[in-house]
Amino acid sequence: MRFALFRRIPADPPQLKIQHAGEAFKIALKRRPTAKRITLRVSSATGEVVLTIPERADLGTAQRFAEAHGAWIATRLARVPTRIAFEPGAVVPLRGVAHRVIHRPAARGTTRVVEGPDGPAIEVFGETPHVPRRVREFLEAEAKRDLAVAVKRYCTRLGVSAKRITVRDTTSRWGSCSARGALSFSWRLVLAPPMVLDYLAAHEVAHLRELNHSPRFWRLVKTVFPQTDEAEEWLKRHGSELHRFG
Ligand SMILES: [Zn+2]
Repeated sequence: MRFALFRRIPADPPQLKIQHAGEAFKIALKRRPTAKRITLRVSSATGEVVLTIPERADLGTAQRFAEAHGAWIATRLARVPTRIAFEPGAVVPLRGVAHRVIHRPAARGTTRVVEGPDGPAIEVFGETPHVPRRVREFLEAEAKRDLAVAVKRYCTRLGVSAKRITVRDTTSRWGSCSARGALSFSWRLVLAPPMVLDYLAAHEVAHLRELNHSPRFWRLVKTVFPQTDEAEEWLKRHGSELHRFG
């Protein structure tokens, strides 16, 4: 808590705005008591630009820092893939295979995979404004189903049991395992080739035996999932592309 009444510290704006080569960039401003210096970050997943500043840094310094890095921000943002919304006609990967979103506004039904005129498709019913949410919910449900099957398989092989499986939209990691044995995964894994989702399931289940990344942990993962290096390589190369969708 800051005693603005006595110290008269003006509140920080949530964002800074800078201009670079005719383009305007919005930069989220985060003041952190633990920050030792000003740092600038561009999320390769979402394109969000964040400037973190120490408790006592003044706004003018922060603004000048951001402006001095305009070219760097522009370069980073140019590398962020453009978003593909879950709208009618969009092409979305499901288990690594392109599916077109086909909208049937006049019919009733549950979102499902069908064979469309130009290949596999995700058929969505109902009013247009609901299409993106329905596609997303469908993909999340598919992710949860695939993950439940894969987790069960690796739990059986390693003689462990998972407390709970949660599917989220995470940007920093694809899966996690809590000390209590709850597993959490990104629903976006269902967009990738099945090998990748399978690998994440094996990885997190192995954490139920070894809650660390020691050589022993990696040996365990590779015992149940021999293509570990291949899956890790896929995520390194293509992982950020999965964040384009929705
Ligand atoms: Zn891990």
